[in-house]
Amino acid sequence: MDTLLLKGKPVAEHIRQELTERIQGLKADGITPNLAAIIVGGDPASKVYVKNKARAFEKMDCDSRTYHLDKNASENEVLDLIHELNQNMEVHGILVQLPLPRHLDSKKILHTVSPQKDVDGFHPENLGLLLEGNPKFIPCTPHGILEILKYYNIPVSGRHAVIVGRSNIVGKPMFALLAQKFEMGNATVTICHTGTKDLDMHTKQADIIIAAAGSPKMIRGDMVKEGVDIIDVGINRIENDSEKGYALVGDVDTDSVMGIARSVTPVPGGVGPMTITMLLVNTVIAAENMKEFAVISH
Ligand code: NAD
Repeated sequence: MDTLLLKGKPVAEHIRQELTERIQGLKADGITPNLAAIIVGGDPASKVYVKNKARAFEKMDCDSRTYHLDKNASENEVLDLIHELNQNMEVHGILVQLPLPRHLDSKKILHTVSPQKDVDGFHPENLGLLLEGNPKFIPCTPHGILEILKYYNIPVSGRHAVIVGRSNIVGKPMFALLAQKFEMGNATVTICHTGTKDLDMHTKQADIIIAAAGSPKMIRGDMVKEGVDIIDVGINRIENDSEKGYALVGDVDTDSVMGIARSVTPVPGGVGPMTITMLLVNTVIAAENMKEFAVISH
């Protein structure tokens, strides 16, 4: 079987094209979608990630500003900044880059972001709406995965999806989406995690695998059935002798599933390009909602 590589770039480009018109519509009304990103400390991976986000916003003619706080910033400093951004009518989306330093209460900080500006979709109000089947902001990575499945016409309804990983940012919202009765859902969903006893037994039964464990190359060809569609979310740095000193690999041993799987997303170049694109989408939605609110309240 020829295995199709599900590249994220064409999907991201397709969505960005559609988004351009909506951004121009907002600009015609004097509104430029604007993201505020908060980064605490100097984690190099987070810095690169936030820089890529800023670049993507600039390319789409949208505004973004990064607030760099010292690694020893107090919880009140972070909360005060979020309160200020919540009130600022020129800011449509607020993102707190994770992970935060250990002395900060991540939950409390994420819960302080206004649900109207929570473009990551991590606020409990937005997670609740997602579970209810009426989401305002869908978390970016699971949303990007749905867009990949849709773009490449991968059937979901009635199939068995196995998610490996139960994090709040990938596994759990992915479960809520795939199980939902809607166009890109209606699957039977199994969610595996570190407490799962026989992982192979579950992955071998999957029609779709979403690998989001953060464990390099853990899903191998001998763990999957013929014709499976695999979404590899993992981004793991493996040290090597290259100039960079490392290579990025996913949670799937891609070489070993080639010829067995019907399709697989590459790492890098699969899910990665989708996450920032869906952040743009959510920021545009937030700006559109604020515009509508402003019209109603006049
Ligand atoms: P996380 O560490 O918060 O959660 C990992 C989950 O996987 C946990 O629920 C754990 O129970 C499960 N797990 C770990 N090892 C396992 C094993 N051996 N067997 C079964 N379950 C296991 O991670 P996360 O934030 O969800 O991220 C997962 C991976 O996806 C990471 O590599 C991360 O870098 C990547 N990621 C990529 C993107 C992207 O844009 N492509 C976005 C978010 C996360």
